[in-house]
Amino acid sequence: MRGLQGKTALITGASSGIGQAIVIRLAQEGCNVAINYRSNPEAAQETEEQAMQTACNQVENCGVQSLLVQADVSQEADIIRMVETVIEKFGSLDILVNNAGIQTEKASHAVETQEFDRVLSVNLRGAYLCARETLKHWVEQKRSGVIINISSVHEIIPRPMYVSYSISKGGMGNLTKTLALEYAAQGIRVNAIAPGATVTPINDAWTEDAEKRAVVESHIPMGRAGTSEEMAAAVAFLASDEAAYITGQTLFIDGGLTLYADFREAWSA
Ligand code: NAD
Repeated sequence: MRGLQGKTALITGASSGIGQAIVIRLAQEGCNVAINYRSNPEAAQETEEQAMQTACNQVENCGVQSLLVQADVSQEADIIRMVETVIEKFGSLDILVNNAGIQTEKASHAVETQEFDRVLSVNLRGAYLCARETLKHWVEQKRSGVIINISSVHEIIPRPMYVSYSISKGGMGNLTKTLALEYAAQGIRVNAIAPGATVTPINDAWTEDAEKRAVVESHIPMGRAGTSEEMAAAVAFLASDEAAYITGQTLFIDGGLTLYADFREAWSA
C-alpha cells in the first residue's frame, strides 16, 4: 500500500494474536517494525522471525529492520523508555499501533478496585501514554504520523460481566476522536479499528471448543469469527497513504455484529 515502505511502526502487545498479525503485515508492506512485548520474549521473537521471513514479499532489497522492545504498557517509565529506544534505533517513529489489551470476567458488583484499575491501566491509560510520548516526538520534530488504536465492538456495545473492558474501549473511541481533532492540522491522523469476535489467544475459552464457538458464531451475521489477518489488513490500510483523508474514525470489522442482528428477521407480521 502507498506510503508504508521505509516507515517505522511500533506495535504494542505484539507477541500474539492481532498484534502479531499487524507486525507481519506491516513488515510485508516494507515498514520497519518495533515489536513490543511484556513478558514473553520467545513469543515476540517468533513474531519477529515470521515477519522477517515474509517481509517485503513484493519488493526486493527493501531493507526492513526489526526490534524487540520489552515494556509493560501499564507502567509510564516503561513506555517512555520504549518510545525513546525505538526512536534511537530507527531515527523516527511514524506509526503507533496501540494493540495491547486485557480483559477480566466478573459481575460488576464484585469487581475489585485493583482488577478494575489493571484493565484500565493497560487498555486505556497505556494507549494514551504511548500516544502522548509519540506525539511529543512528532510535535517537537514538526512531523506528521499515524496512530491506530485497537478498540473493540464493545466501544459501542455494552458488555455485561466485563465492565472495565467495556469502559476501556468506550474511552478508546473518545481518545481516538479527541487526539484526531487536536492534531489534525499537523498532519497527524488518529483512527481505530473495532474487531468483533476474532480467533486469538484472548478468546481461547471459546475458540478451542467447537460447541462454544458455534454459539458465538451464531450471533454473527456473517456466520464466522474474524481472523487476525483481516484486522491487520485494515490497520495497514489506515496506516497507509490510501487513508490520507481519514481521521477520527473507528472502523468496525465484525462480520456485521454491530448491525443489530436481532433485526435479521421481522419480529412480527
Ligand atoms: P491477545 O491476548 O493475543 O493479545 C493481547 C496482547 O497484549 C498480548 O500479546 C499480551 O501479552 C499483550 N499485553 C497484555 N498486557 C500488556 C501490557 N501490560 N503491556 C504490554 N503488552 C501487554 O489477544 P488479541 O485478541 O490479539 O488482542 C489484541 C487487541 O485486540 C486487544 O486490545 C483486544 O482488546 C482487542 N480485541 C480483540 C478481540 C478478539 O475477539 N480477539 C475483539 C475486539 C478487540
